[in-house]
Amino acid sequence: MIIVLKPGTTRSEVKEFSSWIESINNVKVNAWYGEHSIVLGLLGDSAAVDIESISAQRIVESVKRVQEPYKKANRKFHPADTVIDLGGGSILGGGKLALIAGPCSVESEEQIIDVAKHVKSSGAAFLRGGAFKPRTSPYAFQGLRASGLELLRHAREKTGLPIVTEIMSPGHIVLFEDVDIIQVGARNMQNFELLKELGKVNKPILLKRGLANTIEELLMSAEYIMAAGNEQVILCERGIRTFETMTRNTLDISAVPLLKSLTHLPVVVDPSHAVGVSTLVEPLAFAAVAAGADGLIIEVHNDPPHAMSDGAQSLTPQQFKSLASRIVEIAPVFGKEVSHRADE
Ligand code: PEP
Ligand code: MN
Repeated sequence: MIIVLKPGTTRSEVKEFSSWIESINNVKVNAWYGEHSIVLGLLGDSAAVDIESISAQRIVESVKRVQEPYKKANRKFHPADTVIDLGGGSILGGGKLALIAGPCSVESEEQIIDVAKHVKSSGAAFLRGGAFKPRTSPYAFQGLRASGLELLRHAREKTGLPIVTEIMSPGHIVLFEDVDIIQVGARNMQNFELLKELGKVNKPILLKRGLANTIEELLMSAEYIMAAGNEQVILCERGIRTFETMTRNTLDISAVPLLKSLTHLPVVVDPSHAVGVSTLVEPLAFAAVAAGADGLIIEVHNDPPHAMSDGAQSLTPQQFKSLASRIVEIAPVFGKEVSHRADE
């Protein structure tokens, strides 16, 4: 971090200010005296330095971070890829690309088991399905809630697929004890109390990018979970809000290689929520693989026209099968191997 001080700042003020910064942070402050300005350089762990309180000091002209404010998620300090391995071949990251597939919402036992069997036979390594649903309207289907989690467990018993499902409240963590990967949805990416609580959980967290959040904000949200003790975080690009109205969101494909360079955490792409139109899911999935994604989340429904949520973007099991087989073919071109369940 670089701090430029106002002209006229005295040496004793610089000394006092530097000692104050050093006393509350784990940094060493060096000062350079120029003809017209004084510049301070902070060396060490400046992630926790409060830039706003520094800027508020009378003698400070400007402050600039030269190092990223996220530390645990930063590839600079952890060059090797984080790999999420749930056993049985369900692996994400480190050269393995995982397909996470299933309906938007868990609707019934028959539906979730039917979809789970289909996506497994097509090569999915994880089953997704929402039990607690974040809906724009309070009158829309809110999910089967705890009984939806129960049905996901049945589907896991039948297929062996680890389950991925969304949490919306810290108070629900006890209900998620038997979930394999907990998803934090776009709308909760900055629910910091939820993130802190998930930092105490010993299971992977799939963190989706918020509708209007920057890449740095996504990394800072991951940092919240990691700083609280849980380093198993998977990031998900799922499209952001733009002025375009023909698609549900706009897939920020550049986020994928950017995130891969900035962080060691696995990056997955959800083309279903990004585009909102089933016919456009496959080309976006290919683009995501080409951009370096470690996984894809694809919504699959046994009867999309009658789905209780997100039918328009859901693939049929047959469409998913065709997509999955093409992903298996193209992944090696981009240095990835699609992870397979050992019990297939
Ligand atoms: C979902 O995965 O069903 C979902 C609600 O996604 P998002 O949070 O990305 O909108
Ligand atoms: Mn959905």
